[in-house]
Amino acid sequence: MCHAPPKLNLKPTRKSNVGDEVIPERKKLRAAKRIVIKIGTKSLTGDNSKLDQKKVGKFVSDIMALRKLGKEVLIVTSGAIGAGVGRLGLPKRPKQLPALQAAAAVGQVKLMEVYEKNFGAHNQTISQLLLSSEDFTDPTRYNNFKNTLSTLLQWGVIPIINENDTVATDEIRVGDNDVLSAYVAKGAKVGLLILLSDIHGLYDGSPTDGESVMIPLVRRVTPKIERSVLKSSGGFGGMFTKVQAARMASEAGIPVVIANARAKDVLMRIIEGEEVGTLFLPRGD
Ligand code: GLU
Repeated sequence: MCHAPPKLNLKPTRKSNVGDEVIPERKKLRAAKRIVIKIGTKSLTGDNSKLDQKKVGKFVSDIMALRKLGKEVLIVTSGAIGAGVGRLGLPKRPKQLPALQAAAAVGQVKLMEVYEKNFGAHNQTISQLLLSSEDFTDPTRYNNFKNTLSTLLQWGVIPIINENDTVATDEIRVGDNDVLSAYVAKGAKVGLLILLSDIHGLYDGSPTDGESVMIPLVRRVTPKIERSVLKSSGGFGGMFTKVQAARMASEAGIPVVIANARAKDVLMRIIEGEEVGTLFLPRGD
């Protein structure tokens, strides 16, 4: 099955995910001083739903390479529910909300333990921030959140952020961590948002369709693009929420890159302006 490529505002790729051509828009990413990096559950866990030390280790050393360049890094991480399922030895991800929330409570500890161990090996101090939607809608809480963030960054500490899953219900959920990362990017006034996933970037059709090609550059996320992504992603999660997050951040003037967490030196290559993943240009460019 081949979906017609969404043509408007898109520049189809000549080759996917590799290359050393530095386009001017990519070059600008080098200037980003403060960066939010969001990583998804699949990029941190293995088939048994346990946290995969190798995957976490790679992510952490990719981040440390940016820290050595003097970049301020904020992490938005998923993986609490997944790690909880693995830790509890549950046969599969539960469906009921209380069980999901309880699994998150167990898994969040494991998640931070693994981050602490890996960042500790680099002598990098980390912190944990668990947020819910009120932290962005209530002005006092939002202000407190921003002040805490800026103090942590001033101290050279990496904030590691997740949704406060144990108290979040559908009504008060931020949504998902893609959207959460866009909120954080706006609140922290970052120069770049990177969404790391198990897929190379945004495709012009279903990524499982061999004929689909990755799109290196999106000038503006239009409703047409959102509809097309919704259709090709089967109508749920995954790329759709990433594109939503990309729209929110880019409309706030923040460039966004969607890239594959497994790609070699992925963060460094993005920062050096290589053509990695899909770049969403900030509004105003
Ligand atoms: N907060 C959830 C977790 O840590 C993940 C939500 C998401 O990935 O969108 O498991």
